[in-house]
Amino acid sequence: MADSHCQDCLPPNKRPRVNPEAVDASPTPVVRLVQDAERDEEFWLEDGNIILVTTLRPTAFRVYKALLARQVEAFADMFASSTAQESESYQGCPVVQLADAPEDLRHLLRVLVPTTDPLFCRAKDGPLPTLHQFSAIIRLSHKYRIERLQEQALTVLKDQYCNTLNAYDRRVSVYAPPVSESCIPTTHMIEIIELARLTDTTSLLPVAFYETQGMLLELLMDGWLRENGTVVHLSRGDLQRCVNSRADFHNASLDRTLRMVRLADTVTCELGCRPTLIHFCGGLDSDMYLCLEDPLGRDTSQCSWSWLVENYDCYPDGIAPCETCIAKVRAQEKEDREKLWARLPWIFSIEVPGWPALPT
Ligand SMILES: [Zn+2]
Repeated sequence: MADSHCQDCLPPNKRPRVNPEAVDASPTPVVRLVQDAERDEEFWLEDGNIILVTTLRPTAFRVYKALLARQVEAFADMFASSTAQESESYQGCPVVQLADAPEDLRHLLRVLVPTTDPLFCRAKDGPLPTLHQFSAIIRLSHKYRIERLQEQALTVLKDQYCNTLNAYDRRVSVYAPPVSESCIPTTHMIEIIELARLTDTTSLLPVAFYETQGMLLELLMDGWLRENGTVVHLSRGDLQRCVNSRADFHNASLDRTLRMVRLADTVTCELGCRPTLIHFCGGLDSDMYLCLEDPLGRDTSQCSWSWLVENYDCYPDGIAPCETCIAKVRAQEKEDREKLWARLPWIFSIEVPGWPALPT
């Protein structure tokens, strides 16, 4: 009798029909994926027609398929292989998984699906995007081969990590304060070096390596914490470059200090600036001299003797050197810095096509 048989023993076409509502109650893996992911607050667009889910800290972004596909060929390819079949979609939207961090993808979408001002269109001297934005956009543009966007971001970075001393001085005043805790660059140079290596943009490297000279080696070895939680470390070779170059910068600092002392001693000025400058050299109670004692310590080659001469506030009787003598300090400083600048690629053992040579 059929009633005595176990249902599993019946051939499939004889099995009772499963209640269709029971099937609907059990979500498909894709639906579960989207339901379990966090919905991105900024990019869950109600009328979006594709859903991107990050594999890291699963987060779902509902955006516009054609808008992304037209700008990013790699996305177009991915979307073409996704289907709108009910079993592979969520609320009628195809679902695509991306092996990215949500923080990074959000920065990319802010450019591709702009909801505010375009990121790289800024007023002259307007604030730059943050380094986290640069990093995410350059890394994802590189990964998804969005060449024009990568180039836009690198062009802005090249303004900051430039190849001429004049451009560098326009960016950072040569009259920056002397070494103090407030002017020690943080480890973000590690990220700049990483982005330069990733995109083979060697012109960023000399200034980035140059600015690591202000950092304690311990900090340099700790690495840079990205917004997405990963810690970036310099490669062994690049870390070695930072260490090896310290002796060159230390020698350059010693040279500049000796030349300053010599200039003070040899200046001939009828206004009596020689004893004033000698007093200045002997009276400086700054990190300048302390740093010179440690070849692997922080470098002082970016500190400005002319800034110190102009801002020193302990001159005898409060009388500073005359403008002509200060101009001599400035001229010597410019000469020293130009020599050092021209040697940067050599100091760091990197080849940088087009790096300006020392004027002859
Ligand atoms: Zn003078």
